[in-house]
Amino acid sequence: MKKIIPIASLEALHSETATAEVPLQLVHPNGFLKDTRGRLLHDLRISVTDRCNFRCPYCMPKEIFTSDYNYLGQKELLSFEEITRVSKIFISHGVEKIRLTGGEPLLRKGIEDLVAMLSPLQTLQQQPIDLTLTTNGSLLKKKAQGLKDAGLKRITVSLDGINDATFRKMNDVDFPVKDVLESIEAAVAVGFASVKVNMVVKNGVNDHEILPMVKHFKNTGVIVRFIEYMDVGNTNGWQMQEVLPSKSVIERIQAVYPLTPVISQYPSEVAQRWKLVDGTGEIGVISSVTETFCHNCSRARLSMEGKLFLCLFATKGYDLRALLRSQSDDLVLANAIANIWQSRDDQYSELRTQIQQGVIFHPKVEMSYIGG
Ligand code: SAM
Ligand code: SF4
Ligand code: SF4
Repeated sequence: MKKIIPIASLEALHSETATAEVPLQLVHPNGFLKDTRGRLLHDLRISVTDRCNFRCPYCMPKEIFTSDYNYLGQKELLSFEEITRVSKIFISHGVEKIRLTGGEPLLRKGIEDLVAMLSPLQTLQQQPIDLTLTTNGSLLKKKAQGLKDAGLKRITVSLDGINDATFRKMNDVDFPVKDVLESIEAAVAVGFASVKVNMVVKNGVNDHEILPMVKHFKNTGVIVRFIEYMDVGNTNGWQMQEVLPSKSVIERIQAVYPLTPVISQYPSEVAQRWKLVDGTGEIGVISSVTETFCHNCSRARLSMEGKLFLCLFATKGYDLRALLRSQSDDLVLANAIANIWQSRDDQYSELRTQIQQGVIFHPKVEMSYIGG
């Protein structure tokens, strides 16, 4: 049994908490909720725990996330019933896609039960909700079948290298790559409709793993997506030199495995997709730093204790838990959420350069707190 390292309540690193205001006049949700830039609310990411058993230096550097940190108590976390209730309200505003994340979501006790409560939900078009989960894969081998049986259709596993030494360095808790690779095989074997692998690329640290990753997952049906290392949070000491632009990732792959672009059908899709010309697989790149996609960003994020964040780089979270735990009915909650989304003007990535240069002051929250 691997040691589980609790992470901080992160209160010191947290942002400001804002009250979720309820407008005087209540209106029924109509599934088309627009923010100040005309962006609809389509995706909800729910972080189910603030704990993780890895210490990826780009996300939860171990010097900061030590075992002395306080972490949220069970009562502070949203219960599965609260998560399900709030999810239904988000769906009434047009949400079609829900991703469970964390921290490490498979550390949340009974996660299969939450999946079983969310998977039957339907969109306003009476289609099954697109429910997915992102995991570091450490516990997935054991849990893959249970998650599938609970109704999970898709899964994403984070894997920052195929070489054992590199992977141990990336997770910083000496976790062997073999266990995660077996988890990915288990996910394929139980028959998820889609198994994706996300690799965060840090220039000079694990970029030598790009080609081995493509080689390893060719012919497996698993899609690998290379993500630019982002300046989320305040603790990872991000520097632009450590970002390997997706353009370079594609050039490196192209030189060995010829690629052809796949045209995306979804405007809010963040990955640029490419097929291997020889038909052996597909890869994707997510250019979170070098190309901004704020103009299409339809994502809200809910933290484990029920704060609503409007951007990965948000400075404040709106306290939905207080409303959830009051006597407020669903219409009140729906209006509070609408009020918050309608005032949204977040566009961090478009302002990144000015923020990095100190022209604009912008405190942030940690990625492990609101989920990727
Ligand atoms: N623990 C789970 C995992 O690692 O898949 C879920 C939570 S993790 C915060 C979600 C995703 O965010 C992971 O794919 C991780 O690699 C990514 N991530 C974390 N910090 C990042 C950063 N600074 N830049 C880019 N991606 C990051
Ligand atoms: Fe944990 Fe995921 Fe963050 Fe790594 S990226 S420290 S696995 S939450
Ligand atoms: Fe969305 Fe914020 Fe990322 Fe822009 S920076 S794409 S608004 S999460």
